[in-house]
Amino acid sequence: MDAVAKKYRYITKECLFCNSTNEADHPIVYQKNFRDEDLDAGVFSARRTADHFHYDMVRCSKTGLLFSRHILDDEALNELYKGSVVTFGEQTEFIKRDYWRPIADKVGGWQRKRALDIGCSNGFFMEVLKDNGYEEVHGVEPGTEPKAIARADIRDNIYTGFYGPGLYPENHFDLITCFQTLDHLSDPLGMLRNMLYNTKPGGHVYMIMHNTNALQAKIFGERSPIIDVEHIYLFNKENLSELCRKAGFKVTSVFDVKNGYPMSYWVRMSPLPMKKMWVGTLKVLGMYEKMLDINAGNMGIILEKV
Ligand SMILES: [Zn+2]
Repeated sequence: MDAVAKKYRYITKECLFCNSTNEADHPIVYQKNFRDEDLDAGVFSARRTADHFHYDMVRCSKTGLLFSRHILDDEALNELYKGSVVTFGEQTEFIKRDYWRPIADKVGGWQRKRALDIGCSNGFFMEVLKDNGYEEVHGVEPGTEPKAIARADIRDNIYTGFYGPGLYPENHFDLITCFQTLDHLSDPLGMLRNMLYNTKPGGHVYMIMHNTNALQAKIFGERSPIIDVEHIYLFNKENLSELCRKAGFKVTSVFDVKNGYPMSYWVRMSPLPMKKMWVGTLKVLGMYEKMLDINAGNMGIILEKV
């Protein structure tokens, strides 16, 4: 049976700082490498092994912002994300530890009444927050499958859909977290402004995302897993801070995030050639399941609403 060829509508994205796509200041860095029929919800699922599809990507010569110039319209993106599935699996416990570490010694001085995790997946970080003293923990997640497998005491506080205006009251949360999500959005500034609205004065926002200035991104270039159809705007520490200030936040700190996984995970996720050879060698050396903490090219940022 012939598959019906999918036709998507595309929209043009502007630089978040120049508000244009002026080609002289935003030259193309990587050329689009897929056709519409290559896309399905699997391509839009967290942590699946890289497919390496990406749109035309351009870089702002003033700010270094790396972004997709023509992207699928919201309707198509929403459909693809709704069908996305949880693929964290065995890695969840490691991710919980890695994401908690940067705020572990700070939350003692913070109010811990209400928290929100945007793009919460199966609620793994909601669990961490609840287990560390937050009284009321909410989550937002577009995919329907993650909620079904969320921990029982968390599940009812997960809203299935997209985060946006009207969902939560003004000055409501002591902490809003958002991991590996900002670079998937077609309007990150709008999202940040809405986060500011929902945060209590004196409250915090804590986000983690890829860093385009990380060593891996520079070494692997187009083969880096961050050059991906899921990513619309990609940041570095400077332009991310600038965008957060533009939204009205005070930037408290920006830092590298270390990830600790077994060696087997790093080998699977890496764009290294000859993976089988690496796996064999590491197994022989008895190092395949050894834990390894490395800077995988993620950065974190902590913001305050003053
Ligand atoms: Zn620009």
